[in-house]
Amino acid sequence: MAKRKQLTAKRHKGLFVYCHVCKKHFTWTKRYTYEKGKQIKEEPICGKTKKNYSSCPNFSVHRYKSRVNIPGTNGSKKETKVHEVTTYNDAVSEAIKFEKEVKEKNRSKFDKNSLEDQQHLKLTKQKLELEQMQQQLTLQLQ
Ligand SMILES: [Zn+2]
Repeated sequence: MAKRKQLTAKRHKGLFVYCHVCKKHFTWTKRYTYEKGKQIKEEPICGKTKKNYSSCPNFSVHRYKSRVNIPGTNGSKKETKVHEVTTYNDAVSEAIKFEKEVKEKNRSKFDKNSLEDQQHLKLTKQKLELEQMQQQLTLQLQ
């Protein structure tokens, strides 16, 4: 049976729990506040059943999920991934792996762009040289 997913008080940046029923992103799963010296446990509420996270009946569709900024977009573009793991520690290692993936992928995209630019530049130069040769030929023929 699936276990309820938990986040630690200091969660890994960009990692949260996503509920596929109420479509809610949980950035925390429980926290403690103190009131008049008394410890009070707080929990987020499920967006659909309005129940506490720990009693949400939909926990079997809760998934760890990562949201990562795409490099070079100033945080305006993000990529997300759902991690099929059950423990917080596994989710953190998956999240780190995913962060690297996004970085690598976008780095090679940048490299590819500059390669295309270089090829384009080379072609334009060749075309110019060819035009100059043609001009010289025409001059010689006249
Ligand atoms: Zn829910």
